[in-house]
Amino acid sequence: MTNYLSELNHIRPQNVSDIQNALTLARKNKANVFVTSGGHNWGYGEVKGVKSDAIHLDLSSMKKILDFNPRTGVVRIEPGVTQGDLETYLKENNLNFYVPNTGAGKRGSILGNALERGFGISPVHDHAESILFVKGILADGSPYESALGEVNRNLAESFTWGVGPQLDKLVTQSSWIVVTEASIQLERKAKCTDILLLPLKEDELATALNKIRDLLQDNSVHIGSIKIFNQKQVSKVKTEEEWFLTMVIYSHPAVRKAYLKIVKGYFKEFQSPKKLILNEPKTRFLKKILELIPLEGAKKFALQLKDFLEMFKLANGGTSEVGYRALDIGFNYQNQMFDMKSLDQKLIWFSPLCVFDGDEALRLFKIINQLNTHEEFRFNTFTWTVLNKRTLAMVIPILFNPLHEEKFWPWYESIHQDLKNMGFIPYRFHVKMMPFLKKNLLPGYFQHVEKFEKAFDPDDIIQSEKYS
Ligand SMILES: Cc1cc2nc3c(=O)[nH]c(=O)nc-3n(C[C@H](O)[C@H](O)[C@H](O)COP(=O)(O)OP(=O)(O)OC[C@H]3O[C@@H](n4cnc5c(N)ncnc54)[C@H](O)[C@@H]3O)c2cc1C
Repeated sequence: MTNYLSELNHIRPQNVSDIQNALTLARKNKANVFVTSGGHNWGYGEVKGVKSDAIHLDLSSMKKILDFNPRTGVVRIEPGVTQGDLETYLKENNLNFYVPNTGAGKRGSILGNALERGFGISPVHDHAESILFVKGILADGSPYESALGEVNRNLAESFTWGVGPQLDKLVTQSSWIVVTEASIQLERKAKCTDILLLPLKEDELATALNKIRDLLQDNSVHIGSIKIFNQKQVSKVKTEEEWFLTMVIYSHPAVRKAYLKIVKGYFKEFQSPKKLILNEPKTRFLKKILELIPLEGAKKFALQLKDFLEMFKLANGGTSEVGYRALDIGFNYQNQMFDMKSLDQKLIWFSPLCVFDGDEALRLFKIINQLNTHEEFRFNTFTWTVLNKRTLAMVIPILFNPLHEEKFWPWYESIHQDLKNMGFIPYRFHVKMMPFLKKNLLPGYFQHVEKFEKAFDPDDIIQSEKYS
């Protein structure tokens, strides 16, 4: 065993046998391990397990990119590989593929985020969906690999159903395995990227959402990330448009014009003079011109375009700090990374799911506004994210004084109970919410989960009580 046992509450394995040794040690001592790949699960529990005395198994030193197949875009990585690592690797090797990025920037790990079922901006934006193959260690120390791995690894990555029950699907948001390696599908970059910008009035939101859903259902255009930000995130100047839609459109030069025409057709009834479809060179040019105009309005618009260029970076598979703007803490990134330690407030994400339907989205938003009555725990920034053709998520950061955390959790539980009573639930939970999730929100389902977890991890060694 390498020298990592100096601090028993924090073990940093360098390889698979270190992980096996750590699990053996945990079994012998009836201890529990909490696993992280990057350790930046901000707003969902950071590096804490549900059990406060769990040993932190920190896989961030296992950083190898083991293989990349440029023909298929399948990359084989160790847990510690971050978005930044993959970005550098792709750049250095002249590989024209998107990094599966998120708003968390360079430091977020590819695997940790996929295991939490996080979602991002560039394709494939549903990160759990892009997991093709996993290897890991079970609580008894035995190795696990995806079904067809015993026959042919390439075939296993190609046909992910394998044969028999598909256990890989049970790896995300679970606690029966330490994942040591995964193959992830990367997408090759499209030749053209355009972004539709459309400011929307409050009463246009439902119609716009239905139009977006119809566009996706019609399957005629390659649409990428779709987000609708509340106005506050886009500009400090109040306008009559409460929402701001951004939709990424990928294409080939041969079909680009036609694609943009199709998209424009869907949104022709929205008459905002600020409706634009921009590409990156056009945005840079516009920003330069606006910076030269000695008018306050022009300067402000140029600043918005600066953020917008960061959106292009993300849409084109790079990394960016622009996501930290959603926290509404006045962070103005230049070239520096935001230091989460400098944040003197506690951050918790609240991300309820919604059926992709305009009226249902309005109903959720109304409920969220009705729940937004606490004097300290407030929802200020709202982002609708399109998860797929059927599902939306409303993503909200909550920031508060860490000294008031004790008061926070009962309030947070109560809003989840109210939300459940109205038919809504988030897609992902903070570690502190695990007992409430199991007991109050999904008690029937988690009875089955518990039986499964007991079979795979009978002594409850791995990530006790996290989604189990
Ligand atoms: C400004 C901001 C923007 C953000 N934007 C996004 C966003 O766009 N999308 C998004 O999804 N999140 C976002 N986040 C939330 C969070 O920071 C990211 O999801 C981040 O990627 C998670 O941290 P990580 O990748 O280091 O995961 P980790 O902390 O390494 O892992 C997360 C969890 O996965 C499990 N896990 C990790 N590795 C293993 C393993 N090897 N074996 C078994 N289980 C494992 C553990 O339960 C762990 O707690 C954002 C946060 C901030 C502050």
